[in-house]
Amino acid sequence: MSEKTIVTVTCDVCGCEIWSGDPESKDKPRRLDFLVWFDTEQDEGKGVKPYLSRASMNLCGKCADEGIRIHAIGAMGYNDYRIKAVGR
Ligand SMILES: [Zn+2]
Repeated sequence: MSEKTIVTVTCDVCGCEIWSGDPESKDKPRRLDFLVWFDTEQDEGKGVKPYLSRASMNLCGKCADEGIRIHAIGAMGYNDYRIKAVGR
């Protein structure tokens, strides 16, 4: 007897569900590289002047539309992603 494992892929910004299904499925969305603003340097997570860099993420269509307004905060490759209003 075996149980099927279902995985859920969620948006790294808003947390909404993008896809769920068999983890082996070829339909499973892959992380894509997006250009985002990093508000922290990645060694110790210290705040720095925001700089553009690539991050590998899962994004829902709505957040992908926000594109360049996504900011990353974190260190060592572990980041929180959020959308900042223009002008902040
Ligand atoms: Zn989203």
